[in-house]
Amino acid sequence: MLTDLSGNQNTLSFEVFPPKKDGEFEKAFEVLDALGKLNPDYISVTYGAGGSRAGKTVEIASYIQNTLGIDAVAHMTCVGSRREQLLEVYRELTEHHVTHVLALRGDRPKDMSDEQFLARDFEHASDMIAFLKENTGLHLAGACYPEKHFESFSMESDLNNLKKKQDAGAEFFISQLFLDNDFYYAFLEKAAKKGITVPICAGIMPITSAKQIGTSITLSGSSVPKAMADLLATYGDDPEEMRKAGVDYAIRQIRDLRENGVRHIHLYSMNRPKTTAQIAEGIL
Ligand code: FAD
Repeated sequence: MLTDLSGNQNTLSFEVFPPKKDGEFEKAFEVLDALGKLNPDYISVTYGAGGSRAGKTVEIASYIQNTLGIDAVAHMTCVGSRREQLLEVYRELTEHHVTHVLALRGDRPKDMSDEQFLARDFEHASDMIAFLKENTGLHLAGACYPEKHFESFSMESDLNNLKKKQDAGAEFFISQLFLDNDFYYAFLEKAAKKGITVPICAGIMPITSAKQIGTSITLSGSSVPKAMADLLATYGDDPEEMRKAGVDYAIRQIRDLRENGVRHIHLYSMNRPKTTAQIAEGIL
C-alpha cells in the first residue's frame, strides 16, 4: 500500500501505460489482472505526451483502484494542459476514488507547435504541485533524476529544484530509470544533504531488447554501464536470451539496492507481466 512508503518495510510497485488504441483495453485489463496478482504496493499509470489522452489514464487508474483494489497513482503533466483541464482530470479521478497523482512537467511532443507548448499555466512540476496542493485533496508525488535531468546544467541546481517540489507538497518521489546503482547511491546522499526527507522510489527498467537502448535509455539520459553494454553485445541478436539476461540484470540490480538499504523499488513494467513476474519472484 502507498501508506507503507512512510514505514520501514520494503515496497515494490509498477508503472504501466494506457493502451495506444481504444480497441486495446481488453488486452490492457488482462495485463493489469496479471500484474495485480503480484500484489504490488501501488501501480502508476502514465499520461500521454501533451495530455491528449488523459481520459485513458483515468480509466486505467480506476480499474487498478476499484477492480483490482490496488492503490493507483495517476500521472499528470503540465505540458498541453491549462489549469481548468487539470482540475477536470482531478474531478474525474476523484469520482473514481483515485487520490494519488504523480505531477510532471512533461516533454514537448514532436508535433506540438511553439504556441501550444507555451500555452500552459504551469512552467514546472513544482508550480503544478503547489496549485494542486492548494486546490484539491490529492496526494502528490514528483519525479527525480539520479543522473540529473537532461536540461539541468548541474546536479546541484536539479536538486534545488527537487527541493522546491518537496516544499510545494510532494509526498514522495519516483526516480528516472538508472542502470548503474552507484549513481543512485551518490544521488541519495546529495539529496539528503539538500534536505530531501520524503521517500524516494528507485525506478528500475529491465532492458530486455537492444532496441530499448535507442528509445527509453536515450530519452532518459541514463548512462549505459559496461556490464549492460556487454550483455547487449552478447545477446542483442537473440530476443529470448536478451530478455532473460535483462531480467537477470534487473534482479541483481534490485538485490544490490536492497542490500544497501533501498526499500522502495518501482519497476517500469512496460506492460509485460511475464518479465515483471520473473523479477518480482527473483528478488524475494
Ligand atoms: P520539472 O520538475 O519541471 O523539471 C524539468 C527541468 O526544469 C529540470 O531540469 C529541473 O531542474 C528544472 N526545474 C524544475 N523546477 C524548476 C523551477 N522552479 N525553476 C527553474 N527550473 C526548474 N512524461 C509524460 O509525458 N508522461 C508521463 O506519464 C511521464 N511519467 C514519468 C514518470 C517518471 C517517474 C519520470 C522520471 C518521468 C516521467 N515523464 C513523463 C517524463 C517527464 O515529463 C520529463 O522527464 C520532463 O522532462 C520533466 O518532468 P519533471 O516533472 O521532472 O519536470
